[in-house]
Amino acid sequence: MLVGVPKEIKNHEYRVGLTPPSVRELTARGVEVIVQQGAGEQIGLSDGQYVAAGAAIVATAQEVFARADMIVKVKEPQPAECAMLREGQLLYTYLHLAPDPEQTAALVKSGAVCIAYETITGPGGGLPLLAPMSEVAGRMAIQAGAAHLEKSKGGMGLLLGGVPGVAAGHVVIIGAGVVGSNALQMAVGAGARVTVLDKNVDRLRQLDLVFGNRIATQYSNAQAIEEAVVSSDLVIGGVLVPGAAAPKLVTRDMIARMKKGAVVVDVAIDQGGCFETSHATTHADPTFVVDGVIHYCVANMPGAVARTSTFALNNATIGHAVALATKGWRRALADDVHLRNGLNVCQGKVTYEAVARDLHYDY
Ligand code: NAD
Repeated sequence: MLVGVPKEIKNHEYRVGLTPPSVRELTARGVEVIVQQGAGEQIGLSDGQYVAAGAAIVATAQEVFARADMIVKVKEPQPAECAMLREGQLLYTYLHLAPDPEQTAALVKSGAVCIAYETITGPGGGLPLLAPMSEVAGRMAIQAGAAHLEKSKGGMGLLLGGVPGVAAGHVVIIGAGVVGSNALQMAVGAGARVTVLDKNVDRLRQLDLVFGNRIATQYSNAQAIEEAVVSSDLVIGGVLVPGAAAPKLVTRDMIARMKKGAVVVDVAIDQGGCFETSHATTHADPTFVVDGVIHYCVANMPGAVARTSTFALNNATIGHAVALATKGWRRALADDVHLRNGLNVCQGKVTYEAVARDLHYDY
């Protein structure tokens, strides 16, 4: 089996499919790996480190796609990459096909076997290859929020942790899942006053056990959200209703009643956002202001910390990568129902029910 790692080509994408330690996991098992020249250069992973891990460096993406039996990436293949995939070739990456009919059609046409990180399940439930990006985004949300509370960034000029004799800022976190609990950990660490809301009382119970009276937990309903939001300095939106657009929990009226120079970070923006006033932004231009409240709504937050994100992603992907590369995809999928759940397109057919239903393919 020859595994190939091309350099990512999506705009401002600096992550890379395999780190040198992941390459070593593969080469130690007799798997050959080729890496495109400079694939990890932007995040401090040199070609020399890949060679030391047992990979060979090739000059172009064309060479990676032409030679490799299995391609390992981060982002969904762009049209130029789809065109290079071939019948029976294995593609292991994030795909997010449901809202993307063009990519789906291109993958079907290619005849490749396409496994999507985001639909691989875990033995304990959940989506373990999505979780690391939520961890990154949750932790970053506090960092981004704190930065935008500074006067020079348009904020009210508030230090989240306060200082002795000056009260700390009030952080409100809506949704206590992976994003919310990671944001909470950072907010508590920064010394902020924290209120966390969720509809799942078990999640609130778990956080209460860990953080005790350092946080306030609150069952999520319109009244509780309104009271928390209007008294806050920073609001983090981290709700998810699986398979649905994010509910608009914070209304325009609530935003209008917030303090001027307060900040909202809508992490759930990739599902449409949970603030009525949100729209997606980019790292190049991350914020906009509505009624004096700064909105940070970047849809791919982990991209800003591409080095950390690459290592976190590899921790979650390498186990299945080793199984696929050493056993071949048929055997690896037959042995592991969770990996089987990642199969979205296989040799000309859509094999993931929700994608087939949404995009009208036979299933
Ligand atoms: P999760 O499933 O772990 O947590 C979601 C939480 O929302 C759950 O605890 C759920 O009970 C809660 N929830 C649902 N409805 C609610 C309501 N009405 N009020 C309060 N809480 C409610 O999901 P996650 O991994 O934390 O992801 C959260 C969102 O962040 C998702 O939309 C995800 O796609 C997004 N995300 C965005 C980025 C980015 O870069 N912007 C990165 C990673 C994840």
